[in-house]
Amino acid sequence: MTTHHLSEDLLLSYAAGNLAEGWSLAVATHVALCADCRKRLAVAEAAGGQLLETLERAPVEAGSWAAVRNRLGTPDPVAPVVQPKTAILPKPLRDYVGGDVDTIRWKALGKGAAQMRLKTGDGETQVRLLRIPAGKPVPEHSHRGRELTVVLSGAFHDGTTLFARGDIEDADDSIQHIPTATEDADCICLAVTESPLRFRSWVVRALQPILGI
Ligand SMILES: [Zn+2]
Repeated sequence: MTTHHLSEDLLLSYAAGNLAEGWSLAVATHVALCADCRKRLAVAEAAGGQLLETLERAPVEAGSWAAVRNRLGTPDPVAPVVQPKTAILPKPLRDYVGGDVDTIRWKALGKGAAQMRLKTGDGETQVRLLRIPAGKPVPEHSHRGRELTVVLSGAFHDGTTLFARGDIEDADDSIQHIPTATEDADCICLAVTESPLRFRSWVVRALQPILGI
């Protein structure tokens, strides 16, 4: 499935604090750049918080969801994210990089593309900033499982769908997926994938009883 915004599933998991660090960073980056999803997140968080309070006060009877909704009312307006006017990387990402795009330590991937790996402690995702040269596809793009890509600068198209600054693409390995930068500028994006290490550690765990380690 491909979208430009957060799926309900991602939004609710993030609001509940159930996402691994890498996925959370992709969500936080999109939310920083997307007023619509900031509002949706505020509603989800307010609903979650008030639901917990309600549950603590009195057990919720079956069918009383409408009553809970009535009690929730309207959430407070969401304050805009404060960031320097010229910043390309939103705050959550600047904290990982140590500054804005000019501080990114790019490593060449070949064919004009480059990346910078960002360290997370979750052991389940691989997080990197990618620079795709104008008019070119992402090189050597193979991955298993889910991939979240958030556009930070420039734009790419994937098939017939265009993704511009702030847009998030939520892709899995069931779809053919070749992001290609538009002709006018290099595209910088945040890409979060499932870590291949997870598979290796699974193999090791499976082999442990056999190898006696
Ligand atoms: Zn959005």
